[in-house]
Amino acid sequence: MTAQTVPVDPFDLVIFGGTGDLALRKLLPGLLHRYADGQIPEDSSIIGVARDKQSDEDYRRKVGETLLRGIGDNEALKEKLPAFLQKLGYHALDATRDDGWEQFAEQLKAQGDRIRVFYLSTSPNLFVAICDKLRAHGLNGGQARVVIEKPIGRDSASAAVINDAVGSAFAESQIFRIDHYLGKETVQNLLALRFANILFEPLWNANHIDHVQITVAETVGLEKRATYYDTSGALRDMVQNHLLQLLCMVAMEPPAALQADAVRDEKLKVLRSLRPITADDAAQLTVRGQYRAGASAGCAVPGYLDELGRPDSRTETFVALKAEVDNWRWAGVPFYLRTGKRLPERVSEIVIAFKQIPHSIFEHSAGPVMGNKLVLRLQPDEGVKLWLMIKDPGPGGLRLQHVPLDMSFAEAFGVHQPEAYERLLMDVVRGNPTLFMRRDEVEAAWKWIDPILAAWENLRETPKPYTAGSWGPSAAVALVERDGRTWHEDTV
Ligand code: NAP
Repeated sequence: MTAQTVPVDPFDLVIFGGTGDLALRKLLPGLLHRYADGQIPEDSSIIGVARDKQSDEDYRRKVGETLLRGIGDNEALKEKLPAFLQKLGYHALDATRDDGWEQFAEQLKAQGDRIRVFYLSTSPNLFVAICDKLRAHGLNGGQARVVIEKPIGRDSASAAVINDAVGSAFAESQIFRIDHYLGKETVQNLLALRFANILFEPLWNANHIDHVQITVAETVGLEKRATYYDTSGALRDMVQNHLLQLLCMVAMEPPAALQADAVRDEKLKVLRSLRPITADDAAQLTVRGQYRAGASAGCAVPGYLDELGRPDSRTETFVALKAEVDNWRWAGVPFYLRTGKRLPERVSEIVIAFKQIPHSIFEHSAGPVMGNKLVLRLQPDEGVKLWLMIKDPGPGGLRLQHVPLDMSFAEAFGVHQPEAYERLLMDVVRGNPTLFMRRDEVEAAWKWIDPILAAWENLRETPKPYTAGSWGPSAAVALVERDGRTWHEDTV
């Protein structure tokens, strides 16, 4: 089976931070894939911007070397690489200074009125300066769009400053706040499963669902992000955006249509229905952890404080929490969220755990009847498993087994699954903001996170230690077990 690609209109894409980690590891490889699939028209251009002075040729060579390393033995991509590199240009600019901007603006305007995407792949403290400059040089009109990366602020107040600055240069319809989790195949499949099938929606509520678990686990430690991460922590870095967005996709009501504002209105209602976690219940409903020395992928790894080189940091590298959505559909259904670094495996998944059957007709010897589960795996291999009870095959007495109906997308469809960034970049070019966050969503998410941050600050506790390579502090296990439940383990 082949994936269908519909070419987009010609565009100019400016990547501020074009020499940085995100550009080299995600954006440019994603664009190469889209180009190789014939989705990017030949007369499009991609311009890297950073302070480092270098020529177009130097930039192409460096990007080419990086892309080649990632391509491996994909001959089709190798073949397309030289033509793709010819689309690249480079412009040395300091976002905080005036020189060079005039010439840069003229160069872009010379291309005429066409789609112009400004991807701010820089530290967020440059977003305000870049947007001011784009406005001052008249680059914010016509078919211009701006993409901003997380983190959008570190609390409600700082998010408002960024949103105000970006909003003073661009209309809301031009602003694409990216959360790449929403670009993942499985997340969109959640929409298809829920709203293109009659099977699930009648069961998708507190009458039939016992609880929901959302796990985003990383095996890596700080990598090159120590300075940023230590001022952020797992709650701001992962929960405020990725985990809450996933929660919204699970919990939202059916939108009237698959249109940007219809979907975003429904997600917003979920965020506004989240029961606040107050100073009184933060200790009961949240767990923060920090990894100590241990092992990752069979290798000894240092603890967070040693990796950071600061013995007094209280930044959490793990969070587990119990959230509740106070509305008719979800009353009484806990949403357990957990995320952390240096966990045993890299996995992101959503588990919808259904209630037990009301009465068992089976004898004790048949074994326990376990609740059905729908498990949506976002990474590493995207797919869906529906756990069902079946009869153990073969002769003899009737024994029951809990087994998954397994649909791994890569195996089932045998096509290259576009990386989230590939899909989202093309959505930006098309001007489709359905899978991007609106300002009020970001604000509502911070409004729920702020009191948790304040409560932790007041508690003045250090995060609970956990050994690198474990599933976090024992308190995270207790958080779920206290309610008579366990974290899902994929045993098949
Ligand atoms: P990075 O590796 O530190 O790259 C920063 C880029 O910004 C470099 O190209 C740098 O080049 C440029 N830059 C710095 N100061 C500048 C200035 N004054 N004017 C113009 N350019 C300037 O950062 P990153 O990891 O790519 O992250 C970029 C953004 O994406 C951040 O907001 C980050 O939080 C977000 N993000 C990153 C990832 C990831 O996987 N890396 C994931 C999610 C979100 P020069 O120093 O040469 O100017």
